[in-house]
Amino acid sequence: MAFSPETVKKAFARSGGRCECDRKAHTWHSLRCPKILTEAQRGTEWEAHHKISVDAGGTDTFDNCEILCMRCHNAIPK
Ligand SMILES: [Zn+2]
Ligand SMILES: [Zn+2]
Repeated sequence: MAFSPETVKKAFARSGGRCECDRKAHTWHSLRCPKILTEAQRGTEWEAHHKISVDAGGTDTFDNCEILCMRCHNAIPK
């Protein structure tokens, strides 16, 4: 399962070029993560993350797509 390019593009536009993470467990940011991202950096600086994992029944929809910087993405348990 993977997000379509259109879904990722829309989610990236929603993000405003910034990591969308607001997890309180991440001590390197309070409230929303300040990491600035550009669209071309996917795979190196950020990834499209399933808010609800596919294993838990999450789908490849826009609402379930979260733009996360690699630091935040890697810190979230699979
Ligand atoms: Zn982040
Ligand atoms: Zn985070």
